[in-house]
Amino acid sequence: MAFEGLASRLQNVFSKLKGKGRLSEEDVNEALREVRLALLEADVNFKVVKDFIAKIREKAVGLDVTKSFTPGMLVIDIVNKELTALMGETQSKLARSNKPPTVIMMVGLQGAGKTTTTGKLAKLLQKQNHRPLLVAGDIYRPAAIKQLQVLGEQIKVPVFTLGDQVSPVAIAKAGLQHAKDNGHDYLIIDTAGRLHIDEELMEELANIRKEVDPDEILLVIDAMTGQDAVNVADNFNKQLELTGVILTKLDGDTRGGAALSVRAVTGCPIKFVATGEKVDALEPFYPDRMASRILG
Ligand code: GDP
Repeated sequence: MAFEGLASRLQNVFSKLKGKGRLSEEDVNEALREVRLALLEADVNFKVVKDFIAKIREKAVGLDVTKSFTPGMLVIDIVNKELTALMGETQSKLARSNKPPTVIMMVGLQGAGKTTTTGKLAKLLQKQNHRPLLVAGDIYRPAAIKQLQVLGEQIKVPVFTLGDQVSPVAIAKAGLQHAKDNGHDYLIIDTAGRLHIDEELMEELANIRKEVDPDEILLVIDAMTGQDAVNVADNFNKQLELTGVILTKLDGDTRGGAALSVRAVTGCPIKFVATGEKVDALEPFYPDRMASRILG
């Protein structure tokens, strides 16, 4: 299960605190040291951990937890609030353009789950009574277009394609026109992924962006890849100005590093999390619920 190691370590720290009655400064320091180690072991970015612990220490001193009658609870409350803040505080909603269609560009490295997530997002929008159109813009990976078409058929959302002999920029442009002509209120463009970030890919994505002026550029990252995912996000964000991140594979045994670091490192909110291979395994991301889940 995701976050299992982190959750059990933190719960351990806090149960020790709760059992203590009054806390000495040394008790608090010891607990913070353990929280710090637990976060580092969960592959949370080093600087994020440092800032996080500093904030908790500051609040604990400010509230003078050593004078409290329920100091353990107070510390847990502080950590819970800071964890929630670290992940973005409140749910970050999907944009909705007042000049439909709302245009969403899906970007990411190969294997992160971009194409699958594109289908899931369309399904989610359809359930909310929207009329999404999918655009098959990955002309390089063999079978990427077919994969999207199969997904589209499964969820009964139309897929716009011009095959793999037309440039992705032209496909995106024609897809946008098709959406306007046919009353689609959301356009979701699946773009090419690569094994690594390269200039050519970024340039192509920048050109598509210029052509369709998206309301959202969502980066799909694999939570299982921890800090690598965060570095990928940082890189994409610097070049494309992402509007949000979708974390996939939270059904696996990810340690939690990506979920806890990506917002702080890039400034981009996590908008959705994917929790399985099935087409309805996508949900909005709630920082407070995630913090409570981690703290048990
Ligand atoms: P792309 O190359 O980024 O377009 O990746 P795909 O959408 O083809 O997904 C790569 C693999 O990851 C596929 O086998 C998907 O079924 C799988 N996958 C995607 N999202 C999830 C998820 O949330 N959980 C799990 N367990 N697998 C996922």
